[in-house]
Amino acid sequence: MERKIGWEIWSEEKIKQTFEYSENYKEFLSRNKTVRKFVNGCVYEAQKLGFKDISEFAKLKKGDKFYKINKGKEIILGFLGDKKLIDGCKFIVAHIDCPRIDLKTSPLYEDENIALFKTYYYGGIKKYQWLTIPLALHGVVFLKDGTFKEIEIGEKETDPVFTITDLLPHLAKEQMKKTIEDGFPGESLNVLVGTMPEKEKGKEKVKAKVLKILKDFYGIEEEDFISSELEFVPAGKAKDAGIDRSMVLAYGQDDRVCSYTSFTAFLDSVNNTVNNIFCILVDQEEIGSRGSTSASSSFFEYFIEEVLEKSGYSLMDIKKVFQNSKAISGDVNTLLDPNYKDAYEPRNSAKIGCGVVLTKITGGRGKGGSTEPTGEYVAYIRKIFDKNNVLWQPGEIGKLELGGGGTVATYFARYNIDTIDCGTGVLSMHAPFELTSKADIYSTYEGYKAFYKEE
Ligand code: MN
Ligand code: MN
Repeated sequence: MERKIGWEIWSEEKIKQTFEYSENYKEFLSRNKTVRKFVNGCVYEAQKLGFKDISEFAKLKKGDKFYKINKGKEIILGFLGDKKLIDGCKFIVAHIDCPRIDLKTSPLYEDENIALFKTYYYGGIKKYQWLTIPLALHGVVFLKDGTFKEIEIGEKETDPVFTITDLLPHLAKEQMKKTIEDGFPGESLNVLVGTMPEKEKGKEKVKAKVLKILKDFYGIEEEDFISSELEFVPAGKAKDAGIDRSMVLAYGQDDRVCSYTSFTAFLDSVNNTVNNIFCILVDQEEIGSRGSTSASSSFFEYFIEEVLEKSGYSLMDIKKVFQNSKAISGDVNTLLDPNYKDAYEPRNSAKIGCGVVLTKITGGRGKGGSTEPTGEYVAYIRKIFDKNNVLWQPGEIGKLELGGGGTVATYFARYNIDTIDCGTGVLSMHAPFELTSKADIYSTYEGYKAFYKEE
């Protein structure tokens, strides 16, 4: 299939819109680097447009704008249009968790006059990429008395940052002979926290000093780490990339690029659609979608039941709602990388700048693990994208035997909802800083808007 490049076919006016949109995108990404922050950022924006917690509605009717948060880490926003709920809804779901470096439950120790944190890496990362870069510490510590302390160190210009060391090349002869998997064991991803000893104390004086700072500044004790959600993420803001500023280099674009584009498309579709539309932002995709705030949680189903009940329907109607609904699983796909062409099958790989990617098959090998949509549904999506001049392209995840990836599509397809994977192409996926094209980001936003708008 012939692919067109957005920059080549778009008007100056549209290119200007594309650049303006990406300014807001970069700012939102830079401000919301954790799942909880992303949820709060969405609530803040939605409330400005009159959205209210669904608990504030005794009954729901056409035109109502509502949302529900699940444990601070998942959010569903809804808007009711003219259509009957039993005639179906439009869902876009994306995940707001990203690869990162989490603290272990008992993280702090001292070795060779250095205090360090033991960590767990979260999601599928190439571990060596996370060494020797500036890291910021984000998160919340929950105390036994029911209060919590928020921590953010490393984002302000004057803040200190953290880092994980790597072996110098002069001593790496043996390390270099190993495979990348063996050369960078997870247990060596220990983050340096401090080197100043506490004067009065006996042994482990450096660790004691770190604990004293944590106590003085945040009121937390060593044992409180077990009920904390602290994570290291790459420090710094999202930036323009390329001499032509055509790209965005930023942490967490898988999958906050689809989360942000679906969220803004949702807000911009309110009062502009006959459909009942929902934006679903879930947690824990990168670790297999198992938890209570993930796509496999009952939260989604119970939320739709609440919407039905408050709209005067019977709970039995949920089957009809799902059967008549359509969903997009908004997740990123890979772009053809000129440095690693061997991993791709060029005819079926997405290319940078050629628009939002429709992914029919996410699995590898014999379509393993895919939630392949029906041909009819793919035709429907093509039709509405073309009708709305959305720049789109097909894309698969590299060569057949090399891999494949999972998405949250399966958790919506299982309700018999027509579901397709559709999202932005990314280079260096799961690296500390991932790369996207502004043209593709904007096409994703336009594709999602067309989906919310069309019947
Ligand atoms: Mn993803
Ligand atoms: Mn991912």
